[in-house]
Amino acid sequence: MLEKIVIANRGEIALRILRACKELGIKTVAVHSTADRELKHVLLADETVCIGPAPSAKSYLNIPAIIAAAEVTGAEGIHPGYGFLSENADFAEQVERSGFTFIGPTADVIRLMGDKVSAINSMKKSGVPCVPGSDGPVGSDMIKNKEIAKRIGYPVIIKASGGGGGRGMRVVRSESALEEAIAMTKAEAKAAFNNDVVYMEKYLENPRHIEIQVLADTFGNAVYLAERDCSMQRRHQKVVEEAPAPGISEELRRDIGSRCAKACTEIGYRGAGTFEFLYENGEFYFIEMNTRIQVEHPVTEMITGIDLVKEQLRIASGLPLSVKQEDIKVKGHALECRINAEDPKSFLPSPGKVLHLHAPGGFGIRWDSHVYGGYTVPPHYDSMIAKLITYGETRDIAIRRMQNALSETIIDGIKTNIPLHELILEDKNFQKGGANIHYLEEKLGIND
Ligand code: ADP
Repeated sequence: MLEKIVIANRGEIALRILRACKELGIKTVAVHSTADRELKHVLLADETVCIGPAPSAKSYLNIPAIIAAAEVTGAEGIHPGYGFLSENADFAEQVERSGFTFIGPTADVIRLMGDKVSAINSMKKSGVPCVPGSDGPVGSDMIKNKEIAKRIGYPVIIKASGGGGGRGMRVVRSESALEEAIAMTKAEAKAAFNNDVVYMEKYLENPRHIEIQVLADTFGNAVYLAERDCSMQRRHQKVVEEAPAPGISEELRRDIGSRCAKACTEIGYRGAGTFEFLYENGEFYFIEMNTRIQVEHPVTEMITGIDLVKEQLRIASGLPLSVKQEDIKVKGHALECRINAEDPKSFLPSPGKVLHLHAPGGFGIRWDSHVYGGYTVPPHYDSMIAKLITYGETRDIAIRRMQNALSETIIDGIKTNIPLHELILEDKNFQKGGANIHYLEEKLGIND
């Protein structure tokens, strides 16, 4: 097992990683910006290194400073968490070249999956179902492009191969708009990602977002850990997640899950990862793979009993997976609400001092948060301050528990989106299960 690692992140995920390290007897180095000296995990880590000023470009994205911190503390590995450098292939490469273990897949695999055209191609080869599309980049021959769009059927969507964060996409509803949409998406992609490669896909009108969690070790073993439904989104940001996804049969889960696990083996995947799909009329369509631990990983942990961060650390230590596919059973239902420091109506961030905090508790309640009474939420980073997770033997019980837990939570001094979560939890269609990715925005009256 690795003896000491650097946690190259902040907030709740840094604390989550620290907790897993403590259970495994791994020493921790917390690297932090000058704005983050009061972070919970910084106070609990074995060692701390300040890596730069508040702006993340100068601290949490500062590759030389993070690698230097590993060097001076004698750490063996670096855990990137999510966001920041977690899917940066150059970072992974530099970490390994400097003689440290990157706790995640190899740089080559991150690169392969980071480029959507190459990711889709390798998924097709492995038998993972993809959205009907252009089979590679769209060129400049408009006669050919019109043929492709006709074959796929309108509406289509033009997407940037290097895109991310919901940017670099354009829906086209008729042939007359095709040429301009391709040109505009190309120009935007060039400006935003310095890569003007775009491709075409069928635009699915009312899909759900369902994703498959996987784990793969360095011995060629790969397993799937059921699915999560993350369809409750606002501006492509997930708000509430759950596992398993309502209405997915064991048979369908096995079929799509085993395809994902097989793809992992074929691309030489290592660590925890997520295959993201759009799901419509009973069919899965791959859109991208996230090569890191995700925010919503706890709902999978709750229904499988498997600690995904501990598995990441085991895999990075060169140990085999601690579980086999036949040992992984789905039991009960879990929900997660992302609690943000923001105005619940305008969604504007609400940083500041938390004067008083009372976290919910009780059977089936999990509170993953770095925030405590007296802590000041800095304005420089993502506004998520806590993840409230509930588990129940059934989905109805998990919902009821979430409602109770939300009503017990007290966070004074800053605004939070708890009222938004209460609204979602009491919504009849949410309670029914299976709403699509547009549902929340439609409910909130957001039409863009
Ligand atoms: P990003 O990396 O920017 O998040 P994705 O490929 O994951 O890009 O797509 C982001 C979102 O865009 C999806 O969650 C979905 O809402 C929408 N989207 C992408 N492709 C399609 C498609 N073919 N049909 C319908 N919606 C799509």
